[in-house]
Amino acid sequence: MKSLLMAGSAAIALAGVIAAPALAQSAMAQTAVPNNILLAEWTGPYDTVPPWDQVKPELFPQAFQFAIDEQRGEYQAIANNPQAPTFANTIEAMEKAGRRLDRVQTLFGVMTDNMSTPAYEALDKEWSPKFSAASDEIRLNPKLFQRIETLYNNRASLGLDAKQTRLLTRTYEYFVRNGAKLNDQQKAELSGLNQKLSSAFSEFNSHLLKDESTFTQASAAQMAGVPQDVKDAAAGVAKAKGLPAGSYAVRNTRSAVEPVLTFATNRALRQKVWQAFANRGDNGNANDNNAIIKQIVKLRADRAHMLGYQSHAHWRMQDTMAKTPERAMDLMMRVWKPAVARVHEEVADQMVFAKKDGLTRIEPWDYRYYQEKVRKAKYDLSEEEIKPYFEQSNLLKGMHWAAEKLYDLKFTENTGKVPVFNPDVRTFEVTNAKTGQLVGVWYLDTYAREGKRSGAWMNTYRSRAGLLGDKVVLASNNNNFTKPEAGKPTLLTLDDASTQFHEFGHAIHYLLVDVKYPSLGGSQRDFVEFPSQVNENWLLTRPVLEQFARHYQTGQAMPASLVDKIKKADTFNQGFATVEYLSSALVDMKLHLDPTGNVDPDAFERKALAEIGMPREMVMRHRLPQFGHLFSSDAYSAGYYSYLWSETMDADTWAAFEETGDPFNRAVADRFRTTLLSTGNETDRADAYRQFRGRDPDVNALLKRRGFPVDGGNAPRPERGK
Ligand SMILES: [Zn+2]
Repeated sequence: MKSLLMAGSAAIALAGVIAAPALAQSAMAQTAVPNNILLAEWTGPYDTVPPWDQVKPELFPQAFQFAIDEQRGEYQAIANNPQAPTFANTIEAMEKAGRRLDRVQTLFGVMTDNMSTPAYEALDKEWSPKFSAASDEIRLNPKLFQRIETLYNNRASLGLDAKQTRLLTRTYEYFVRNGAKLNDQQKAELSGLNQKLSSAFSEFNSHLLKDESTFTQASAAQMAGVPQDVKDAAAGVAKAKGLPAGSYAVRNTRSAVEPVLTFATNRALRQKVWQAFANRGDNGNANDNNAIIKQIVKLRADRAHMLGYQSHAHWRMQDTMAKTPERAMDLMMRVWKPAVARVHEEVADQMVFAKKDGLTRIEPWDYRYYQEKVRKAKYDLSEEEIKPYFEQSNLLKGMHWAAEKLYDLKFTENTGKVPVFNPDVRTFEVTNAKTGQLVGVWYLDTYAREGKRSGAWMNTYRSRAGLLGDKVVLASNNNNFTKPEAGKPTLLTLDDASTQFHEFGHAIHYLLVDVKYPSLGGSQRDFVEFPSQVNENWLLTRPVLEQFARHYQTGQAMPASLVDKIKKADTFNQGFATVEYLSSALVDMKLHLDPTGNVDPDAFERKALAEIGMPREMVMRHRLPQFGHLFSSDAYSAGYYSYLWSETMDADTWAAFEETGDPFNRAVADRFRTTLLSTGNETDRADAYRQFRGRDPDVNALLKRRGFPVDGGNAPRPERGK
């Protein structure tokens, strides 16, 4: 049931749960489990851990089929129970169902995200629609829904506590939202739509992965200006690709591309690298995603209409804090205007330098390069100056130190003690520093590699849920930092370091969640990014910098003057960062608000950007043909705004710490943990926020943090009440 109802714990790109129109097998639960490691109960320390070292693609078809059939049997037993429905025999029983399939899908999701091969891609393509069909088989089961509806209609007289009532209500609403009240013919159509969508998602993903596996070849002369560690890594890739000695290969992923765009003096190389990256999925070749996007958007619009909504965005936003697309758009537009104004200022600053190089205007492949020059001139601060102090292992220690100080979470490395899926994965035992009690295991997969999807994400292999007796959380962080050559340290940029803290914030959240029902362990989409973004704030606190930002060669602490410069440059580049993100979020929402769903993605993107006044010197962070958030699953569709919604709460939460004069104020941290983190989704999130802060979040905190003028205008606030 976890995968059905949890809105946003994992970044796993699986479309749903279960599968295949097979025979009803009510005796399934008694069937012997085949001898297949993927189906076996996990074993080992920490209340058992996944058998990563034994996962093989050829084991999945049997495991999928068996686990799907078993889950079908479990749900049929609930639906066909001759006894009248009770909370225990229906809702709680559903919470306990499908556990084996959850485990198999967890293993599969990690292999497709972190270790993909053609064999896994083929499996994903084949099984995604089957999982979708199996989910629908549950969600559209009339007997099951009848039991849920009966309970829902009588919920006031069932003697349920607040959490149980919330679970029942959410389960009922989830079923209705997904078609439980449609007639048989509509149900069949809906299920067909969902299966087509999941095939399309899988195809989109595989195209994107292929385009990100390409590279741009460059000579030593072309790489002039690029930092040595980046060049070393590019030389390593060139060698692995069998290119002649002395050449470099810039992989077509964000972490490889951005340093070249920031530092390469050779403008032609910057342009070439930028074009390859900005055009992923948009090259008119076998990996082109435009036709798939067109199909996805149309299918989504049709589905929304069938379910009684005017657009996919309206449908998707039912279970969010924002509630309606309009409220999300209001917040975005309030921040968009000052952000665009700031970009124009940033470009004017850049032109001072660009003119000296004979340029008459800034092109998108120039922005980062000249922005870096402005940073150096304005703040006497360069990325290269920071990096030697941001050695990854030191920063990990800083991150762990902060988590212990704030939440008593103690991290002790235990790499080698539990199986991992790649030798680069490090693991850490997590205990409560005060009681010594075991909390979980934290897996860290740091480096980019072929077959690993781009970006950074958190994932749980097991979450805490009292009903299931699951106490020890297994959480993982996944980044895509460039792997240094053997023996060299991993030096992070400020952006990478923030990403590391961000993903760790997700992990902290799930390590602290302490709920009874698994379905109340997740979060609404526009809440999910809140704990992670809050955690980014501790990176640039003085105690963390002074103790853990140590020069990788000399061991010297970061000089106070450099700390000051970093602090001073805090709002630098916020025009770029905000517009890059918000343009993507606005286009996402506009696309999914289109009531017909008949769009030409390329034309739509250009038109939507023109409407909002996108600065011509920039491009969206994710153009549609590579926007995995939107098209590799439904998860972030009409939902990319969530980061901003979450950041509104984040900025206001950080202000609560700052108001005390101590970023590690334990009283605030305790309140943050008990009201907002450990509660999962057991209570209304807007109510929980008010409990934490005594009021709704203040949007001005976010404007201030980004260095934009505070407007004091009509603040679109998260929904008041329910
Ligand atoms: Zn995140």
